[in-house]
Order: sequence, then C-alpha cells, then structure tokens
Amino acid sequence: MTDSALVGQHRLDLSRGDITNERVDAIANAANEALRGGGGVDGAVHRAAGPGLLAELRTRYPHGTPTGTAVATDAYDLPARWVLHAVGPVWRGGNNDEPNLLAAAYRSCLILADELGARSIAFPAISMGIYGYPPPDGARVAVQTVVAYLRGETRVEVVRFVLFSEETYELFAEALAEAG
Ligand code: ADP
Repeated sequence: MTDSALVGQHRLDLSRGDITNERVDAIANAANEALRGGGGVDGAVHRAAGPGLLAELRTRYPHGTPTGTAVATDAYDLPARWVLHAVGPVWRGGNNDEPNLLAAAYRSCLILADELGARSIAFPAISMGIYGYPPPDGARVAVQTVVAYLRGETRVEVVRFVLFSEETYELFAEALAEAG
C-alpha cells in the first residue's frame, strides 16, 4: 500500500514495512539520547547494520545527543548509505514541549540530509512506540514538519514514512490528506 503527494517538485510517500529494508540514501532511526541502541526501530537498525554502527556512535558521540537533535553515521550492512539517529521526546503529558521537540527531531534529520547530499530519506514514526507519543498527534507533527521543510530551500527529493502497522499508516494518510 502506498500513498503519495507532491510538495512542489518533491515527493512525500507513505509505505508499510520495515525501515531497515529501505533502499534510500538515508534512513532515520528513532534513537535515544544515549545513542547506544535500544528496542523498537533502534534495535532493528543496529541488528541490520552490524556492530560497526555502535562502534562509530561510541567513538564520535561519547556523550550522546539531546532530545530534538539528530546525528549521522554510516549505514554499514544496511542498504541505505547513512543512518540519521534522531531523538524524539518521551511523551510526558503534552506540556513539556513535546510537539516542538518532535518537530525538531524530524527537521534535524532533514537538515543533516541536505548537508550530506542525501536526496532520499525514510522516516519511522519517531516517538510513537516506546516513547508513547499519541499516534494521531505524532503523525500530524511528522507530516506537517516534513511538508513545511519541503516547501523551503532543499535538495531532498523524496521523503518516505515507513510505517510498521496498518493503524499507523492510516493516521499518516489522514495527516497527509489534511496537510495537502
Ligand atoms: P520511540 O522510542 O521513538 O517511540 P519505537 O522504536 O519504540 O520508537 O517506535 C517508533 C515506531 O516505529 C512505532 O510505530 C513502531 O511500531 C515502529 N517500528 C518498530 N520497528 C520498526 C521497523 N523495523 N521499521 C519501521 N517501523 C518500526
């Protein structure tokens, strides 16, 4: 199943699946501040990339990275070229700057993609798993942030949200219809 929208010359796609299989320039990982691996997408990304990923993170980012930011590494055994490790917020009720921090996590990846020269990027539903962000709101923030970025100056051509579940896919499809 795929939904797709054009934002100017850029494409925004939705697809169901496992982000570790994506053949794009860069995949985003829903990481945590420590950048030492974890569960969910993070676990899958580290398993598929191999041990070089953790070794690079340890060497280059010994203190991790704050919520709302992202760092880039090589993608090792993954089909992508780079992994963008983005730290979304833990949901703490909604009055702790969660929407801005979630938007900042997506935006940081897009800025890194532009710096690296990545033209295609795939995102998971950051913060919408273990971190507990309410799914409809998380989908809206994700789609609106990416659409706003693609309306600005960027060389990113394709952004794809790769969603694990049917329910999450439907929420992103609704958010995309609203943002259109
Ligand atoms: P967070 O800690 O930021 O909430 P999670 O990894 O727990 O991140 O979950 C984020 C979202 O990614 C959830 O919707 C989850 O179902 C989904 N997910 C988990 N594994 C994968 C995967 N391999 N590919 C794509 N999405 C995944």
